[in-house]
Amino acid sequence: MSNDKQFVEEITPQSEDFSRWYIDVIKKAELMDYSPVRGCIVFRPDGFEIWEHIKEAMDVRFRETGHRNAYFPMFIPESFFQKEKEHVEGFNPELPWVTEAGGEKLEERLAIRPTSETMIGHMYSKWIQSYRDLPVLINQWANVVRWEKRTLPFLRTSEFLWQEGHTAHETEEEAREETMKMLEVYREVIEEVLAIPVITGQKTPSEKFAGAKETFSLEAMMKDGRAVQAGTSHYMGTNFAVAFDIKYLSRENNLEFAHTTSWGTSTRLIGALIMVHGDDRGLALPPKVAPTQVVMVPIGPPKKRDAVIARADELFAQLKQSGVRVKMDDRSDVSPGWKFNEYEMRGVPVRLEIGPRDMENGVCVLVSRISGEKKIVQQDNLVEEVQAMLAQVQQEMYVRAKNFMEENFYSVDTLDEMKALMEEKRGFTLAGWCGSEECEDKVKEVTGATSRNIPFKTTEQKTTCLCCGKPAKHTVVFARAY
Ligand code: AMP
Ligand code: ZN
Repeated sequence: MSNDKQFVEEITPQSEDFSRWYIDVIKKAELMDYSPVRGCIVFRPDGFEIWEHIKEAMDVRFRETGHRNAYFPMFIPESFFQKEKEHVEGFNPELPWVTEAGGEKLEERLAIRPTSETMIGHMYSKWIQSYRDLPVLINQWANVVRWEKRTLPFLRTSEFLWQEGHTAHETEEEAREETMKMLEVYREVIEEVLAIPVITGQKTPSEKFAGAKETFSLEAMMKDGRAVQAGTSHYMGTNFAVAFDIKYLSRENNLEFAHTTSWGTSTRLIGALIMVHGDDRGLALPPKVAPTQVVMVPIGPPKKRDAVIARADELFAQLKQSGVRVKMDDRSDVSPGWKFNEYEMRGVPVRLEIGPRDMENGVCVLVSRISGEKKIVQQDNLVEEVQAMLAQVQQEMYVRAKNFMEENFYSVDTLDEMKALMEEKRGFTLAGWCGSEECEDKVKEVTGATSRNIPFKTTEQKTTCLCCGKPAKHTVVFARAY
């Protein structure tokens, strides 16, 4: 069908220009649109619904681990930022300021929050007096603003949606445990719900959050071999407690500083999802976050259409009733082939076809977006069959992404080796690092790759620094990153 061909041709092939492929797909699938404000995007309903499903998956786990949601103001007095030196240095270049409101100049400028450690630190100092007030386990869903120089829809925008958890604890041990627990919650959601395999580990000092003692991250590999930092969890030590005077009377009756943590994931995850799973036909969405999980396309000559549609309607009701996010496309002015291409482009994980002969035989056909596999199933068993296929697609998407990551993961010993790899095919590289910032900077300058993290699990421990040849302190994952 010539129509069908044309439909797909509007998407630039990944191998030709990955960035253009990405923009083509997110616009064509109507996930987002550009806004008149620099670096800010509009989330259209399908894009926003993906976020809502991510949010639901996170929220359940936040609650299970004892956290509650709250909301803090988006305006932060300038003086708050001056209290933690590293924090202000890190965020100052990206802050937008409100200087005037209601026609009058403000006495103190207000920053629009880039993150809420300062505001929340201020409030915690009021709420926390004694060890009995601890731990405080709060999460906030909000928008934040960072005036980024380089922006890319979802992955790096000036305004983005996120969650930020902020907790305060009696001891270092408890706060560290919390930092790791939430990293694990992120790993679970990202791997099991988004079907994106990640590498968890610790950030090097130059890449850590401004004001944190230690930062831990989850790094994912996009289909062009570049990395996306999918989430971070920070152990703050007592840095913010000292800056904001978060003190409590301990069990031994001493005045002590609390140990705090923060952790965040954002709408960047939507960008990662697209770049990990999409292909030349468009989006491919894991069933757990797909706005539409199954699209039903009735097929057949006009004479038999009404009967087919009547049966399809009954099956539709059954699926909907069972909680499947199902959509019926019974448009008569568009060919089935066109519809197939359209829903493949939109990333719908499973297509259900039903025609007159299927009706007679009491069957219908399920087609997987990711593998193209077709399965003829009994209508009597439809709900179970659909659920099984959705689970299978979810699992297969994870396995494919994991294989891809493993195939594009290299071990290197020298800067030249890494340079060649980065120029040739991208991917992640594992290398030894002496721990000096000079070597880290040089790697970036020469290869374009930055240190992603020091992985918790690695198949190999490197012994020498790839840059200076001195003994390696750490084995690090380097990659070009978004
Ligand atoms: P941070 O508070 O800097 O640790 O950021 C927490 C998480 O927010 C990061 O791990 C990213 O996933 C995400 N993030 C940071 N900056 C942006 C941005 N400009 N646009 C979208 N997501 C972001
Ligand atoms: Zn070195």
